[in-house]
Amino acid sequence: MPLSHLECAQCGRRHDPDRLQTVCGGCGGTLLARYDLEGIGREAIGTDRSLWRYRAVLPVRGREAEVSLGEGWTPLLPLLRVPGLGRLWLKDEGCNPTGTFKARGAAVGLARARELGARHVALPTAGNAGGAWSAYAARAGLAITVVMPADATDAAKAECAAYGARAYAVDGLIGDAGALVGEAARARGWFDASTLREPYRVEGKKTIAYEIAEAFGWRLPDAVLCPVGGGVGVVALHKAFAELRALGWVPGEGVRLVAVQSAGCAPVVRAFAAGAERTEPWEGVHTDIGGLRVPSPFGGALVLRALRESGGTAVAVADADIHGAVRELAATHGILACPEGAATLAAARMLRAAGWLRETDRVVLLNTGSGLKYPAPVAPRLPVLGRREPLPAEAGQPPLR
Ligand SMILES: *Cc1c(COP(=O)(O)O)cnc(C)c1O
Ligand SMILES: [Zn+2]
Repeated sequence: MPLSHLECAQCGRRHDPDRLQTVCGGCGGTLLARYDLEGIGREAIGTDRSLWRYRAVLPVRGREAEVSLGEGWTPLLPLLRVPGLGRLWLKDEGCNPTGTFKARGAAVGLARARELGARHVALPTAGNAGGAWSAYAARAGLAITVVMPADATDAAKAECAAYGARAYAVDGLIGDAGALVGEAARARGWFDASTLREPYRVEGKKTIAYEIAEAFGWRLPDAVLCPVGGGVGVVALHKAFAELRALGWVPGEGVRLVAVQSAGCAPVVRAFAAGAERTEPWEGVHTDIGGLRVPSPFGGALVLRALRESGGTAVAVADADIHGAVRELAATHGILACPEGAATLAAARMLRAAGWLRETDRVVLLNTGSGLKYPAPVAPRLPVLGRREPLPAEAGQPPLR
């Protein structure tokens, strides 16, 4: 692989890509992987039906070092019944192993960490990253420790335990979990794989952009809407669209990136609207949507830069509208999205109403996970039938044949 070096996104300092690295040794900023992209044509794309088809632009050097559960190569589904948005697609990341796009970052991040000699990884999680990294650690034969907020979903706790992770709950938010992990990792020599504090999770997630480009026949869409918690999704998409242009695989025009947050925790939206360069901690978090409960994202400045450089924007959506969008996607499109992902549909409507999106724009919503991982807000009560009772007549049914 033509991985050439790691570059600090904040101060530009170069770091050795073939040693285990977390953040910049100079300023503590996020390190990003840089490649010699010259001369890599689209014929370098593999035939794998997983993200490993893009191994020519991934950091894992040896083929035998790859770790896979079949992540990536997810469907790009047209959404044909959203009035006013005539050219709308949904990239369905719920089809990934462990049910979310965290599988991409975990597969590449863990494979590269193992290749560089890591034996024990540790990370804080709202829930889904813990599940994904635990699964891939089991697959790769590495030990893993995860710390999550005590009110993470039962599904997340059960998943981490099933994969054999050492999992802990902390009475606090994801930032509190991150502080505990950082301290333990330093003291015990574990590899700290926290969001944007190691270079290779972004590399896994960037393959979403390569898949979108390939699915559209190497013509990029006008806008991609992405839910933002820690911000890896937006940072990775922005990096990948720039790489695709540098590779010459797509024409020059960019993709406007839209960050979508819950109105109950919207540090990126607030900072973007204020024209600020960094996010300020969000006080009084009011949302139950786990992936969006990140009041002080470590990569806030990087996310804001990605939004501005791409000509994008940031939108906050009320939780009631997010849950409405979950129901709408399920009932009218057959897609049971996670609330984080469904928020992008509500945001697209708001941006269309404001004229920011045009009817003719080609727009992609990123559904980051499967709704099956989330408890139903209200479990529906089904009509109960006696064992010999005929089904009742149903109004409005079309004839049988
Ligand atoms: C983690 C997560 C997000 C937020 O992603 P970031 O990369 O942290 O911004 C969104 N949706 C789901 C389902 C997640 O698990
Ligand atoms: Zn630096």
